[in-house]
Amino acid sequence: MGKALIIVDLQHDFLPPHGSLAVPGGDEIVAPIVELAKDDRWSVVVATQDWHPRDHVSFAVNHNVPEFSEFVYTSPIRRNETQAATLWPVHCVQGTQGAELAPELVHTLDRLECDHHVVQKGFLSDREYYSAFHDIWSDHHTQLHGLLQKHGVNEVSIVGVALDFCVKSTAVSAANLGYRTTILKDYTRGIATDAKAQCNLEQELVQNDILLK
Ligand SMILES: [Zn+2]
Repeated sequence: MGKALIIVDLQHDFLPPHGSLAVPGGDEIVAPIVELAKDDRWSVVVATQDWHPRDHVSFAVNHNVPEFSEFVYTSPIRRNETQAATLWPVHCVQGTQGAELAPELVHTLDRLECDHHVVQKGFLSDREYYSAFHDIWSDHHTQLHGLLQKHGVNEVSIVGVALDFCVKSTAVSAANLGYRTTILKDYTRGIATDAKAQCNLEQELVQNDILLK
């Protein structure tokens, strides 16, 4: 049985100082995560990468509305299913610098002795993704689950940004798939940091059997 480290979306556009959708303090966790990735407890290290086409449905500009507008998505498959969400500034467009992983992380991944992979998400334009396992409708699946299975993983530790979006959703998917799931709090940063948001987040993690430590 193996342990995996999943490093969520450590990309220029999610990091200060220049990211178009920078998570406050995201730049502070790059060096610690790089050190953590070198630990010999991991059977596999996976870095996820938000990887959008320019016409992606999550970009406010593609709906001619202001950034951070609320929006209701309709499932591309089941037209009666909807989900309320936020529309974002353009971010992590395929092939742009903003979509690249933090260079220190790339450098370290290349030199790891254990297996390591980059898993992309968000590349279908008609659907939003938070989880690195699947889109928000749980219809389209990335390679992540298969990869973990191939490596005999039964336990995952999740780090990266943003704690309250992609880190949380990736953790919920992992727990639902039967992985023992831990979010390593000191190696994450979130967007909403007020006490109420923190409390709601912690409750949601407990309900889903996710450890936060
Ligand atoms: Zn995105």
